[in-house]
Amino acid sequence: MDAVIGLGSNLGDRRALLRGAVEELRLLGDVGPISALYETQPVGPPQPLFLNAAVTLKTALDPLGLLNALLAIELRLGRVREERWGPRSIDLDILWTDAGIFEAPRLRVPHPELRRRAFALRPLLDVAPEAADPCDGTPYRAVLAALGDDSPVEIAGSRFGWT
Ligand code: ATP
Ligand code: MG
Ligand code: MG
Repeated sequence: MDAVIGLGSNLGDRRALLRGAVEELRLLGDVGPISALYETQPVGPPQPLFLNAAVTLKTALDPLGLLNALLAIELRLGRVREERWGPRSIDLDILWTDAGIFEAPRLRVPHPELRRRAFALRPLLDVAPEAADPCDGTPYRAVLAALGDDSPVEIAGSRFGWT
């Protein structure tokens, strides 16, 4: 399965945390293209700016196996779950896979908020420019354009590598 993992951090050394997460993802399969880094506005309660990124991962894990592995990485990197949508050292979400729609009580793919989130779509399109919503075939490129949200700010030089 080819998956796009969305990464986010707004606590501590954000860039080091994202880098550490990518190193851990390499243990789950083949990490392919890596997006630029984007600084983005938080949603939810007032809190620091996020750094967001996305990577592709080719893995033999199934969706729930991948989710469990991501939650374990979050714990290893020091994530503490407090208030919903509160600040976090690291968030690893399954944004999209090439296996289509997956629905379970603990996991929905594509990520249910993806179409509303420029901070997730913008890095996803760096690594999967042709990705489309498996529900109706809409290219995410068109979804992002329709959002008209240019708030993700690319960190200068990061498209040339930050891991
Ligand atoms: P959001 O889901 O709105 O981005 P969040 O990432 O802060 O919020 P978490 O606390 O990281 O939420 O995760 C809560 C639960 O969301 C996870 O334990 C997992 O069971 C569930 N979940 C459902 N769909 C997904 C998905 N596509 N990727 C990651 N987690 C998911
Ligand atoms: Mg999230
Ligand atoms: Mg999450």
